[in-house]
Amino acid sequence: MSRTPIESRLHQLHEQLAGQGSGELASYIPQLSAANPDWFGLATTTVDGKAYCAGNSGLEFSIQSVSKPFVYAMALVDRGEDYVLDHVGIEPTGDPFNAVTLSAASGKPLNPMVNAGAIVTSTLVEGKDHRARAERIRDGLSRFAGRELSIDENVARSERDTSDRNRAISYLMKGAGSLEIDVEDALSCYIAQCSVLINAVDLSVMAATLASGGRNPLSNEQVVPPELISPVLTIMSTCGMYDGAGEWMYRVGLPAKSGVSGAIMAVLPNQLGIAAWSPPLDRHGNSVRGVKAMELLSDDLDLHVYFPTGASQSPIRRVTSSQVVRARTGRTPREQEILSTHGNQLRIVELQGSISLLGAQEVVEGIADTSTSESAGWLVLDVRQVAEFHPGALKIVNEALVALVESGVEVAVVETQHAGGRRSPQSWRVRMDRDRDLVLQRFEDELILAECGAMPTPGVLVELGECQILATLTSEQLAVVAGLLSFADHSQGEVLVASGDRPTGISWLLSGEVDLLVPVESLIDSTRLRGIGPGAVFGELTMVNDGFDRASAVTTQPTRIAFLSTHRWDQLELDEPDLASAMLRGLAELLAGRQRRMLELLESMAETQF
Ligand code: GLN
Repeated sequence: MSRTPIESRLHQLHEQLAGQGSGELASYIPQLSAANPDWFGLATTTVDGKAYCAGNSGLEFSIQSVSKPFVYAMALVDRGEDYVLDHVGIEPTGDPFNAVTLSAASGKPLNPMVNAGAIVTSTLVEGKDHRARAERIRDGLSRFAGRELSIDENVARSERDTSDRNRAISYLMKGAGSLEIDVEDALSCYIAQCSVLINAVDLSVMAATLASGGRNPLSNEQVVPPELISPVLTIMSTCGMYDGAGEWMYRVGLPAKSGVSGAIMAVLPNQLGIAAWSPPLDRHGNSVRGVKAMELLSDDLDLHVYFPTGASQSPIRRVTSSQVVRARTGRTPREQEILSTHGNQLRIVELQGSISLLGAQEVVEGIADTSTSESAGWLVLDVRQVAEFHPGALKIVNEALVALVESGVEVAVVETQHAGGRRSPQSWRVRMDRDRDLVLQRFEDELILAECGAMPTPGVLVELGECQILATLTSEQLAVVAGLLSFADHSQGEVLVASGDRPTGISWLLSGEVDLLVPVESLIDSTRLRGIGPGAVFGELTMVNDGFDRASAVTTQPTRIAFLSTHRWDQLELDEPDLASAMLRGLAELLAGRQRRMLELLESMAETQF
């Protein structure tokens, strides 16, 4: 299979940088100085779970300091933000990772990305002793990686034997009161944390988990809550590359974290996790090849988080009204007329895409128009095509909707079952519905009631002369038709026509309601094409052809039907040509009306650019 564009870039970068010989292996942890300086792995994982890699991307190495942001996230989960901020600062040091620097005023470590802050942070995760905390950390890192990770005891032992500097920092912090537990216990847990084994692909998945709001794109587990992502990424941006952080943000522009084993991970929020691993380090303790690879990749694909993205798509997909778009329900000619004349009071606003704060402003202006129409009105806000709302945007749209409701507008939001992003049914402060057709039907009913003072109760009995196709007949002609009809009362749930059957005649609903259902292949159930009520007809195409229709007709309540068999219709055409042609004219008008509505619908769709 040919390589994807990102995959081939990883291979190109690998080829380009593999011969690059500068940098020193970390020597203060003997086990790390045994690394092969040629090792070089690259990997990326997208938030939709596609992983690509090049080079030694399957070789394991100890995670070292790249663990720090993840453990910081765990501490935030376990202790809450206030507690954690109380113990570890968030200011960059400008000093090397192992500097003996504490806040002069409080004795607190300056940030959780340097050793001092990381040692304290690992004491903050939940666990009754250092072993339990180390296990909680190993387990947490495994969830970020989406597989069970283990601790390399050789690395841990090697680091423990040579930890004098970290031990010194810890005693200093203990003395200053910022480390609250025994120094050896604290070191033990911290060293276990640094010795967890991962490979470059794992690291890209871990970064992708940060990129996708804390949800692991492979396992789909929500490892940490989305609210913790911006704090963690912020600290990675300012402190993740130690005293090289400023230059890194300038050149690469991605929140990142490095470690002395030669690993670097970078996060492109909402899109991608990137990992590079190669043991030789620069003077800041960052992988030489890793930094170079990330610089080149970011430059090539403009990954800098502050890269201007330009104008985005309009969040408004379509604004229409029930003059054009209607519920798939049966309406008498009088009701249709009311909707055609006054339907602009029922507005339908369809949104699309990712809604930013700016987009929300446009939405608010779009829906505000609804309240300026002559009566209070109705608004259906269809957000089924919205991929995501920025939380602030959602807040603003909600406020506008609440204001509309307070001004007397009936508002309903139509939302899908599986709304993306952080939206949930609870996100809406106004009424939320899943079925747009039913909301439209209810609002249309209310509009018709408001306009003509009578509710179009489906149960009501209509005269033959009020029925579709028959409305223009004279009373003499109606009497002739009536003589050919058979009348039947059906109870709720009767199948009048099964899907795929030919209707054996024309049926007029005198009362009740019938749902016309079409089987939909992708669904187990059939879907409602439309519901029809008193005065409506089905099987009418048998007047001109065999009337074959994929829809089935099922009563949804006790229903009275007037039925004209195809056989009798054929006879009527022979015996009463004038009457038959009057009825065919009625059919033509019915079809012309449907056609007109269809064209209006198409026009309203063409107005919006897709
Ligand atoms: N375990 C290492 C140490 O404490 C981690 C440092 C690093 O990766 N920068 O020195």
